[in-house]
Amino acid sequence: MAKYVHSGKYGKYFFSGSDRVEDGEHGVTLAVVDQQAVKSSYGCLISWLYPRETPYGTHPAHIHENAEYLIQVGTNVDNPFDLGSEIELCMGKEMGKHTITRPTVVYVPPGFIHSPWTIKKVNQPFIFMQIPHGAPRGSVYYPQLLPENERDIMKY
Ligand SMILES: [Zn+2]
Repeated sequence: MAKYVHSGKYGKYFFSGSDRVEDGEHGVTLAVVDQQAVKSSYGCLISWLYPRETPYGTHPAHIHENAEYLIQVGTNVDNPFDLGSEIELCMGKEMGKHTITRPTVVYVPPGFIHSPWTIKKVNQPFIFMQIPHGAPRGSVYYPQLLPENERDIMKY
């Protein structure tokens, strides 16, 4: 649920902040829309991640019924194509590793195994957006695809 909502007739469609933890495992939640806030929404989460000592959380390999976009945007005003950070995303049941160092939109097809989405380095803040293409109905996790020593750090 959004923490700050605009006033006026259509203020209910503007979201900023969150009732969820604002500085947690996925950084600072800038804005979130979920079906509690707007029943017809598929949801959207925007986070701000920055250099910090506490490691960021991640999820094990999983699938969900609907496709989603995973969007990473840098904040380097001198070079908009520099993410200023390094993220590793595993794709497919083969757990193919992809390193993201530029602003990137990842399209995850429906029912496709993806993650962990792991932040390896944050040299400069970046923005992360998770945008599903359908109503969230939960995820199915595949921790068995990870080496045993990596399963303990995963969040569900
Ligand atoms: Zn996912």
